[in-house]
Amino acid sequence: MGRVYNFSAGPAVLPEEVLRDAAAEMLDYNGSRMSVMEMSHRSKVYEEIIEEAEKDIRDLLNIPDNYKVLFLQGGGHTQFAMVPMNLMKNKKADYIITGQWAKKAFQEAKMYGDVVAVASSEDETYSYIPDCSDLPIREDADYVYICENNTIYGTKFKTLPNTKGKDLVADVSSCFLSEPMDISKYALVWGGVQKNIGPAGVVIAIIRDDLVTDDVLEGTPSMLRYKIHADNKSLYNTPPTYNIYICGKVFKWIKSLGGLAAMKERNEEKAKILYDFLDSSKLFKGTVRKEDRSLMNVPFVTGDKELDAKFIKEAEANGFVNLKGHRSVGGMRASIYNAMPKEGVEKLVEFMKKFEKENA
Ligand code: PMP
Repeated sequence: MGRVYNFSAGPAVLPEEVLRDAAAEMLDYNGSRMSVMEMSHRSKVYEEIIEEAEKDIRDLLNIPDNYKVLFLQGGGHTQFAMVPMNLMKNKKADYIITGQWAKKAFQEAKMYGDVVAVASSEDETYSYIPDCSDLPIREDADYVYICENNTIYGTKFKTLPNTKGKDLVADVSSCFLSEPMDISKYALVWGGVQKNIGPAGVVIAIIRDDLVTDDVLEGTPSMLRYKIHADNKSLYNTPPTYNIYICGKVFKWIKSLGGLAAMKERNEEKAKILYDFLDSSKLFKGTVRKEDRSLMNVPFVTGDKELDAKFIKEAEANGFVNLKGHRSVGGMRASIYNAMPKEGVEKLVEFMKKFEKENA
């Protein structure tokens, strides 16, 4: 039996080439006669792996020299605290709430200072991105925070908010490396890798130099200081060595396909197949305002909970797995990250058409 088409929101599908390559190197990495899992993070061979991974992500995103790239631990939830602990000089920050992950970051930041929600789409179950062209950003806000792609609700910022000159911090977990980005527009970008880049356990943060300082909130533990990790080239403590190695392989895979511009083209093509079908279907409906649709996470419903459940069950039996929507919204969600082949989306749509006919 072949592999399933895995539409999980994360941990998620990885490129088959990367998995095969890692399998081939499992017992003997590059003549070292051991697995990368077994290597000291202080060894020369491992240092080369992490340095090359950093170089490759710098190339892919065209990261300016005045930004540090950090491989961190503790998942997105640790960033929810690490961002305010390191960036709140005035103890003030403005948050844009476009979903559960932005809201959680907002609530966490409240523990450290005066935090305001300057915009929110909670009124319509986060099904749209609010107009962020003229928000009441505070004069003395340390930063403005967004979650750029909303994994649960399937929306994405198509234009960045007008921060009125304040530093922009973005959680890009679910759109990381799905298309080109201009890093210079952000003060700090961070993302958990478990959607588009690698196995869970790594967060990549890209942070402007001037924010990498010892001037952090009192009591900030060493492990939660960006500067400690920057000074130690992400080897302050033992990092998730194997996971970073896989991230490095995914960077090479993206490069081999033509980089982020090519990735964007592929992702637009895939998403269009699914959205076009949803727009023409009599049974299935997308749940998000069209202009704000994510290329990565596509939520949809039939409008009937029992039929949704029947669809998910039959889809699974046919090799299309993890299509259940997030527990907070129900319905279905197809996450179609970089590593989901076009064929997976085409076959899903074929299956949806068949289901629609049978259940008309
Ligand atoms: N941000 C986004 C956009 C997410 O989708 C998630 C969930 N994967 C998180 C943050 C939380 O990440 P973690 O589970 O790694 O803490």
